[in-house]
Amino acid sequence: MAETLLELYRKNPEKFRAFLFDIDGTVLLANTPIPGAPEFLDVLRKDHVPFFFLTNNCAQTHEEIAQRLTDAGIYAKPDEIISSGDPVPKYFMKKNKTGKAWKYFLVGRTPEIPGVIEYEKDPAKIMECDGVLHNAGKYDWAVVMTAILNFFLKFPEKPFIVTNPDMLNPMPRGVTLCSNGQMELIIALLKKQGIDKERIHFGKPFPAVYEEVKERLASVGVKPEEALAVGDWLNSDIRGANLAGISSCLVLTGLSKEEDIANHDETFCPEFIVSTLS
Ligand SMILES: [Mg+2]
Repeated sequence: MAETLLELYRKNPEKFRAFLFDIDGTVLLANTPIPGAPEFLDVLRKDHVPFFFLTNNCAQTHEEIAQRLTDAGIYAKPDEIISSGDPVPKYFMKKNKTGKAWKYFLVGRTPEIPGVIEYEKDPAKIMECDGVLHNAGKYDWAVVMTAILNFFLKFPEKPFIVTNPDMLNPMPRGVTLCSNGQMELIIALLKKQGIDKERIHFGKPFPAVYEEVKERLASVGVKPEEALAVGDWLNSDIRGANLAGISSCLVLTGLSKEEDIANHDETFCPEFIVSTLS
């Protein structure tokens, strides 16, 4: 049986100067705390060790995510949340140097930046857009997915950004389909029509969200190599941290099992494996 993160932390109290925690499958299952998680976070707060919640869930704002955690019994502040939707403004500011705002069809929420990016939310007007940005949130699947499918059938070369790369999320009775899982259906349908459509992702394990992570760690005086990223999924939490130069720790309370590691290359291999947080 693997040790707990608390045991690992007690053995090396100076080793990690900050922590990054995935949310679903790591500290919460649906809206219930995973046993041992609240207690470990309390220890870190008492020890004044900074931590952030790094989630691919961008369907909610930082305030809503912090509230969801707090309501479940895990106290969290909005400025402790980092989500896969956070890199959107910087992405467009870096990409659009035309001096004229691009118009993107938007699923979900994100701020407009005058002169750089504006958003269209009416599926009837999607054909006027320069690309599609799926930033999660609740929407009418049938209407929106039909609009996006028709858009890429007509403009297969236009960009398709899906901030959250996750297909599935663990739930108490199985899994639920994340935004990228929904968009996978569109990709499959386009393929049937001979269109091989690439998506652009920002969330774990892709680098964009780790640029945000590095800025937040720097704001508390911590270098990436001094932090530990804790998560339940090899494909996102562990691989993303490894590629970003952050130590990684797999917790066996969610999607990935210890035996899954052998099915992947070393970029998926966690530096530590723990049974629970405490
Ligand atoms: Mg997870």
